[in-house]
Amino acid sequence: MPSALINGKEIGQSIRNDLTKRIEYLNEQGISPGLAVILVGDNAASKVYVSNKQKTCEELGIYSQLITFDANLSEHELITTIESLNADPAIDGILVQLPLPKQIDESNVLSAILPSKDVDGFHPINIGKMMLGQDTFLPCTPYGVMKLLEYSEVELSGKHAVVIGRSHIVGKPMGQLLLQKDATVTYVHSKTPNLKEITLQADVLVVAVGKAKLITSDYIKDGAVVIDVGMNRDENNRLCGDVDFESVKEKASYITPVPGGVGPMTITMLMENTVQSAENELRQDKRSENR
Ligand code: NAD
Repeated sequence: MPSALINGKEIGQSIRNDLTKRIEYLNEQGISPGLAVILVGDNAASKVYVSNKQKTCEELGIYSQLITFDANLSEHELITTIESLNADPAIDGILVQLPLPKQIDESNVLSAILPSKDVDGFHPINIGKMMLGQDTFLPCTPYGVMKLLEYSEVELSGKHAVVIGRSHIVGKPMGQLLLQKDATVTYVHSKTPNLKEITLQADVLVVAVGKAKLITSDYIKDGAVVIDVGMNRDENNRLCGDVDFESVKEKASYITPVPGGVGPMTITMLMENTVQSAENELRQDKRSENR
């Protein structure tokens, strides 16, 4: 039986509708959530991602500030900029668009962002909190996948979830979030010799590799839920995922399309984290007023 589509566009829109109400409330309290986005160099894909983030901020009424630098920027200059944004009360979230040029150490830069403004959820403190299941900013893509599963009422407790990919920004945190929902989690990656043997056991399969149509229907157990994080170009230069959608949809119970699946959720969860950060600030203000 063909699978049901998990529609990230619709689910993302519904989350953004709720955000609009939360933003209105913040505005009534005299607070306008603000996001600073830093772009270094002229990577074409990064420019598109940054402009989509700005557009979404505008739609929702989130103040956004774009700071651009040439590719020859020094690490010191970038960290100085981050420090001034850390101290800026108009800014609730700071995002440094990755990848960065070679001369800049990504981990030094991400660690320079104040954890309370780290709306990408990449600061080591926030990653540690996530591992411990504490309240924190969750990395946007895995957080978005969890929302897709929640809205689609996919049961995770006791299920075997397999994550393909182990990057810091998608695969690793993805497995942790599934584990927190009581799934039994297996990670597979480029050095896994028996990939298919393992994916065939998956009740829930999350694919985050970056190889067009790598996962075909012979990797899928009947009735599995398949989430495709991949964003690639096919032979006709059309956007496609890591999953061969046409064949896999005949076997899966639920499947995300590309585009229109995980992609819209990543931006939505960035907005959610930014609003959350402004709400945290408001709570702090109220607490200090009551002292
Ligand atoms: P990455 O390159 O950092 O990691 C890819 C992972 O895939 C690695 O851990 C590697 O071990 C594994 N891998 C590589 N080849 C493999 C193979 N043949 N079999 C099994 N595992 C293999 O990539 P990433 O940043 O995690 O992104 C993965 C994909 O997700 C990319 O296509 C990226 O564009 C996309 N992405 C999409 C969104 C979104 O919002 N939709 C967000 C982030 C990333």
